[in-house]
Amino acid sequence: MRRILCGILAICLLLAASALADPAAEKELEKEIGAFEITAEQRELARANEAGYPVLDAGRGNPNWINSQARYAFTRFMNFAIGECERVMQEDSMAGQARKDGIGERFDAAMNPEDPTDAFLIAAVEYCVNSLGLEKDGLIKELVDAVIGDYYPSPSRCLPNTEAILNAFLQATLYHSTELAGSTGVFPTEGGSAAMVYIFESLSHNRLLKPGDRIAIATPIFTPYMQIPSVKDYGLVSIDVSSTEESHWEIDEAELAKLEDPSVKAFFLVNPSNPASHALSEMTLARLKRVVEKNPDLIILTDDVYGTFAEEFQSVYAVLPHNTILVYSFSKLYGVTGWRIGLIAMNEENVCDRLLRELPEEDRAYLRAEYSIVTTAPEELPFLDRVVADSRSIGLYHTSGLSTPSQVFMDLLALSHLIYAGRGEEDPYIRLANETVHQRYAALMKALGLEPDESATNAQYYTLVDVYDLAEAEYGAEFVDWLKAEKTEIEFLNDLAGRKGVVLMYGPGFSAPDGTVRVSLANLNTEDYEEIARRLFELLDEYAEEAGLEAVQENAA
Ligand SMILES: *Cc1c(COP(=O)(O)O)cnc(C)c1O
Repeated sequence: MRRILCGILAICLLLAASALADPAAEKELEKEIGAFEITAEQRELARANEAGYPVLDAGRGNPNWINSQARYAFTRFMNFAIGECERVMQEDSMAGQARKDGIGERFDAAMNPEDPTDAFLIAAVEYCVNSLGLEKDGLIKELVDAVIGDYYPSPSRCLPNTEAILNAFLQATLYHSTELAGSTGVFPTEGGSAAMVYIFESLSHNRLLKPGDRIAIATPIFTPYMQIPSVKDYGLVSIDVSSTEESHWEIDEAELAKLEDPSVKAFFLVNPSNPASHALSEMTLARLKRVVEKNPDLIILTDDVYGTFAEEFQSVYAVLPHNTILVYSFSKLYGVTGWRIGLIAMNEENVCDRLLRELPEEDRAYLRAEYSIVTTAPEELPFLDRVVADSRSIGLYHTSGLSTPSQVFMDLLALSHLIYAGRGEEDPYIRLANETVHQRYAALMKALGLEPDESATNAQYYTLVDVYDLAEAEYGAEFVDWLKAEKTEIEFLNDLAGRKGVVLMYGPGFSAPDGTVRVSLANLNTEDYEEIARRLFELLDEYAEEAGLEAVQENAA
């Protein structure tokens, strides 16, 4: 063990020494480390910052708001469900299993329409029955069993009523009037992160992605994703499909054209993006559709976790339902990162199932053997169900699926939106979440003296700030040259943390341009963003003094 540690230490020292000798190598090393690891260090520095300022950490995307309604409803419904079990049998703290007969009537009798939480539950059940056509007793029995959690998830992929509710939610929030709820299958997962890992695992296991295959990644992108596409483990080769601030983070035609090449097997994007926080425009969606006509086997994987933050959002899934695997997470909008709830959605008619049928006989024989341990018709097992089976290494398929209480909580979050959408009304919670980040974004941009980007595609959940632009505005181009020569971006971020107590994220760690930092607008209050701008200028002023330069304009902050 010690020998291994010494070996690792030696390699690190070597890497560090070579990096010091070579700034380009240092840059590469910085990128390898990843934005999240770098931020962890800065958090430490910020705690003991020289100015003694309160720490302002706008690094993480974890929101500082929560949805209370669904949480009240979960608690209330849990109580009702326990009552249903105690009705059947109660001795000490042991109770029975709920029964279906008359459960709808007992629900109606238990709910008090004057109580806001009960009124929400009544409206939610009414919506399910009237708008989704779900059978009331069956729905309530499924929800009661699920919240109690005394059965394995069955079917393991998704509880049937949950699937109908989640489909309606995706339809209402992400498809922008394209009708897909009826033809979409859903697999709830332990957050969007698990969804991504499961998908890559199954694409590879099912030989839809093979070693040496090329996958395209829309950059800049959420760093952990650049690491999981298990580009390394699965021997995939990644190519960047990039966008820039100059083009409002829109992917241009030339970049999109890279996807026409049939050797590109998959395209992977976050939409609206992270860190740039922009959604694909209608024009880009239309172009993407034309690209796929030229490469019809392309598998698109879209992570739409920020979809509700962009105006008039439309998912790639709604435009290319047969080529796209959709990932959504409740984490950000509802402040539920600790719950670990997200989902995978796929059309019943999809490219993965077609490609499975077209695999060479050798691969199909291998896969028949793989899945024959859990089904008598392995060839017919749809790709989405293979993802479910693979999530438990196939053998434990019968105990797969997301915990049932988590599925109920997802239902309640979805229904908190659907009761409004179903009446054609605006959802006040989603409006508030949007207003919250917009207000913070406006305050930050004003304090930085930058023009806000008010385009409809800007979700404003994060923003990338170009520090070189700020430096140039304050002290001129000469100062930017000095900064580039004297301070690496990591040194700048370390000083911002260590001297001023501000934690931001490293842009190049997301493949964003040098000089950029990501500011999360989700986790601090409006005035904190003004203070971040003030401290940023304070640091730049100190640098300018070091450089012996005079300000060309007054600080905006
Ligand atoms: C925060 C985030 C998620 C959410 O992941 P969970 O595992 O559901 O918490 C997904 N995708 C991106 C790009 C994110 O930034």
